Amino acid sequence: MESYGYAAPSSVSEAISTIKASAAAGRMIQVLAGGTDVMVQMKALGHEARTLIDIKKLSETNRLEVGADEIYIGAAVPSALMNEDAQFKALLPGLAEAADLIGSTQIQGRATICGNLCNASPAGDSIPAMIAAGAVCDIATADGRRELPVEDFVVGVGKNALQEGEILLGLKIPTPQANSKDAYLRFTPRTEMDIAVAGVGVSLTVVSGTCTAARVAIGAVAPTALLVADAASALIGTQLDEAALAAAADACRAAASPITDKRGTADYRKTVVGVLCKRAIALAHSRI
Ligand SMILES: Cc1cc2nc3c(=O)[nH]c(=O)nc-3n(C[C@H](O)[C@H](O)[C@H](O)COP(=O)(O)OP(=O)(O)OC[C@H]3O[C@@H](n4cnc5c(N)ncnc54)[C@H](O)[C@@H]3O)c2cc1C
Repeated sequence: MESYGYAAPSSVSEAISTIKASAAAGRMIQVLAGGTDVMVQMKALGHEARTLIDIKKLSETNRLEVGADEIYIGAAVPSALMNEDAQFKALLPGLAEAADLIGSTQIQGRATICGNLCNASPAGDSIPAMIAAGAVCDIATADGRRELPVEDFVVGVGKNALQEGEILLGLKIPTPQANSKDAYLRFTPRTEMDIAVAGVGVSLTVVSGTCTAARVAIGAVAPTALLVADAASALIGTQLDEAALAAAADACRAAASPITDKRGTADYRKTVVGVLCKRAIALAHSRI
């Protein structure tokens, strides 16, 4: 029987070369961040022997930095740390709330939003909030680094755009200015520890009462979270009045292609995503 392996590299180059060496030896490799998906999936889905590459000892992945122009969230930063950072929470309350919805206090002590993204569940709570915030993935490759907007990172249910041997190091987000705020709302049948039936992330910029920029993303209503450009267009140039909110909600419903399952029918999900869209816009607006 093949054995399990564990490596905790202390530099990105060591991590990449460990991955290369394991691949050359024909071993399965899996990156380990908080492990809240990995451990559950190893028990329930697949027991194949593998080498786990723990990224928690890399300095890059432990960065949580708020700069004047850019916020960096390292791939090993757990949700709980994001929510303990008052400056981060004040700038990106929607993304902080999305991270705070993941599981329980215990889960948030380990779970990372980058792990949430890499796991690529259609219902991953932090993904619409990251897309709304304009987050870009900082990816370590065999030859250096590459960047990819979060909206292009998830390519299917449980599938992401990382190539073999690549690691997501973290996320870069443009630092919101005083007249920009975000919000994330989801609906779950139970109040705690449940999977979203629908989720909406919104980021708005308002100047003298007029919306000058917007990003709207929906989750759990399609195979991947989606950036809904038509919803943003319905808001930009308006005073965020009821008609604009209704048009944005219509755009979210039109973009959704949900499934029917035990948590709700496709029609129900479409209705809910429209309602959440309006509420998330109103919430982000109220924060500016
Ligand atoms: C009880 C419970 C409740 C939960 N509730 C919610 C919830 O309400 N909402 C929600 O969205 N999720 C929920 N989850 C799912 C889970 O906690 C999240 O998906 C979590 O954010 C994953 O982060 P992690 O750091 O633990 O990732 P890990 O488990 O370490 O990794 C997840 C996947 O991503 C890969 N990966 C991780 N980091 C990287 C990287 N840097 N580069 C490349 N690949 C990487 C791993 O190989 C693995 O395939 C829950 C889980 C549990 C156990």
